[in-house]
Amino acid sequence: MIPGGRLVVLGKQGAGKGTQCVRLSHHYVIPHISTGDMLRGETKAGTALGVEAQSYMDTGELIPDEVVLKMVAQRLDQDDTRTRGFVLDGFPRTVAQAEGLDDLLVPASLDLAINIVVPTPLVLRRLASRRVCEDCAAIYSTAAPPRIAWICDACGGEVIHREDDTEAAIHRRLDLYEQQTQPLIAWYRRAHKLVSVSGVGSPETVSDRLIRAIDDHRAATGGFSAPLRTSGMTSAGRAGATSASAGIGSGPDPAAEPSGRPGGAGS
Ligand code: ADP
Ligand code: ZN
Repeated sequence: MIPGGRLVVLGKQGAGKGTQCVRLSHHYVIPHISTGDMLRGETKAGTALGVEAQSYMDTGELIPDEVVLKMVAQRLDQDDTRTRGFVLDGFPRTVAQAEGLDDLLVPASLDLAINIVVPTPLVLRRLASRRVCEDCAAIYSTAAPPRIAWICDACGGEVIHREDDTEAAIHRRLDLYEQQTQPLIAWYRRAHKLVSVSGVGSPETVSDRLIRAIDDHRAATGGFSAPLRTSGMTSAGRAGATSASAGIGSGPDPAAEPSGRPGGAGS
């Protein structure tokens, strides 16, 4: 395993992005950046951003692009993401956000977008039973609760049913996913930066699949472009390292679209 990488994870609500991003973050030793978790943190802390975000989030609407982009820009400017990379969860969600992300990364670039594919009936079932830790965002379900009733195993925080995991908000979020986020799949495919992986199965099965797809893509394209070294690297150094691998190949999509696509027969 080679540590580091600049990754984006795409997938419907309930596809397992949060769970899988935590696993990828440990495996590749890269920070996990979830815009949903960041926004919920702002709301909990009562910041101006949090107050603005709350009304959008409760009803399942998207926060305006420029607001989210500003928040992500600040996070990507930290040392850990500059030197090791990141796995982005819940961002980008619109083509404008994806373009904004590309601009933020110059002179480097994104390595790969991973699309976790799960049929809609299954995500609806998962969302209805999903429970999350209010403090650390660990994910549980009614079928796999924490050891002590609704107290987080990891941090002792309260494990709750998210306010926006109501039926109306879920449907709104899934509609917006189709309208605004689904186009990103074609966008990243055209850039030869997409792998699609089935998200059906246990968390372990799915993370094994993801890691294989990422490593295969990395091998097929001759490694990631990321100049992931120590902090304090000059921008000239970064630019040099990036242009050295500018001719990244367009390897095949190693995990071809699985059969369980949206609208498929379900699992
Ligand atoms: P889910 O993927 O289940 O919708 P998230 O935790 O990723 O959950 O996001 C929760 C809410 O936070 C979204 O419904 C939206 O209001 C807001 N949000 C998160 N990320 C973004 C983003 N990239 N752009 C706009 N809004 C966002
Ligand atoms: Zn917790």
